[in-house]
Amino acid sequence: MCGVVGIFGHPEAATLAYLSLYALQHRGQESAGIVALNGDELTRRAGMGLASEVFSRDVLTALPGQAAIGHVRYSTAGDSRRSNAQPFLFRHHRGPIAIAHNGNLVNAAVLRESLEDEGSIFQTTSDTEVVLHLAARLRVPDIMDALASSLRQVRGAYSLVALVPRRLIAVRDPWGFRPLSIGRVEGAWVVASETCAFDLLGAEYVRDVERGELVVADVGGLHSFKPFATERAAPCLFEHVYFARPDSQVFGESVQAVRKRLGERLWQEQPAQVEVVTPVPDSGVYAAMGYARAAGLPFEMGFVRNHYIGRTFIEPTQQIRNFGVRIKLNPVREILEGRRIALIDDSIVRGTTSRKIVQLCRDAGAREVRVRISSPPTIGPCHYGIDTPVREELIGARHSVEEIRGFLGADSLGYLSLEGLLQAAGRVPGEVCTACWDDDLPVELPRADRGQLGLFDKTVR
Ligand code: AMP
Repeated sequence: MCGVVGIFGHPEAATLAYLSLYALQHRGQESAGIVALNGDELTRRAGMGLASEVFSRDVLTALPGQAAIGHVRYSTAGDSRRSNAQPFLFRHHRGPIAIAHNGNLVNAAVLRESLEDEGSIFQTTSDTEVVLHLAARLRVPDIMDALASSLRQVRGAYSLVALVPRRLIAVRDPWGFRPLSIGRVEGAWVVASETCAFDLLGAEYVRDVERGELVVADVGGLHSFKPFATERAAPCLFEHVYFARPDSQVFGESVQAVRKRLGERLWQEQPAQVEVVTPVPDSGVYAAMGYARAAGLPFEMGFVRNHYIGRTFIEPTQQIRNFGVRIKLNPVREILEGRRIALIDDSIVRGTTSRKIVQLCRDAGAREVRVRISSPPTIGPCHYGIDTPVREELIGARHSVEEIRGFLGADSLGYLSLEGLLQAAGRVPGEVCTACWDDDLPVELPRADRGQLGLFDKTVR
């Protein structure tokens, strides 16, 4: 769960990267960083926290140059510490290179072990560093060839940007797990995880980096290469369901439009005899709109979400019931009281928050709470870059829908089917990653015991 951005050919490259990180902040809140290229010199600033906490006018002034890359991180591999903040900046025999990565490499641990056996000294615990070590060892003169060769050895998800003297490089893995788009602003090139970054910069969307494509921006323009063997397509459908921002175009589709279609289909599959449709904000909002529209029912915001909680809030020492969820979500009594409601969300992970939200509805006087979920039960952890807990903690992996309904304390519970999800999203089975719902892994794991490091607990929802 990360966001990346790259700028090439703009006098305020670092500032543009910084602004883009604001738009991509939902993709990671643990650390933020920028590397800027000035002449042949790369300079890095990175730290723990939000982009607004890491960067100031002074810090940006220390990052001059016409090109920059940036990163916001939520760790799915490697732990949460300052040294793991990206972009990484390394200097080796071919010169400096900076790299920022979104995704998760499934064979990083195996590669790292053999690199360490042969004497490599790693400075971080991130899977991304493996790519740089592999590239540094190759006896090819050009860094771009070295990067492509090293990426041929890794398997899994990578949408990454790299910066070297005179060039910005952007690559998407051959499966195309994570998004990466190309834009243009004032003659400069921009690549970003999501197109919402282009909107903020006033950049024009040009196209997506294709899966298996490596693009290079230099003074001569944009150059495209296809250095990898063809693999099955596996863009992550959970980007559309939950992760991406609704105002982005991801994998060629408007995220909010897909979410509304999921909601419409959810109504067809799982109609609820209710008086009002209300989302769990923000994740359920667009699916609830679609559900309400298809049902011909009123859509109401039965909860108000507080966006200003920040990293650390001080909990009361006295037990206040459901305090943790109440600080984020406050029920609107006038909307819920005495009503039969359909409560719409995109997914259930552990079930613990959803259970509290159902209880909040009851506390606010809702007569019936019918929970509807715009994706199938989550049965497996993600190995390709979305932070999910281990299988044992996924309620959908161990319990029937009826058991989950009982745990939530809902009057009924209905999930969207996988066929319904695929159809409503306009996707073909086998050409998209649906592993969290059906265990169909587009890239096999080298070792069953080495998943990505789960840090789900720390997620600020
Ligand atoms: P829970 O009730 O604990 O199962 O949490 C469900 C909520 O978690 C839903 O509102 C989802 O939108 C949200 N969610 C789903 N996937 C993730 C994720 N990877 N990280 C953080 N929140 C998530």
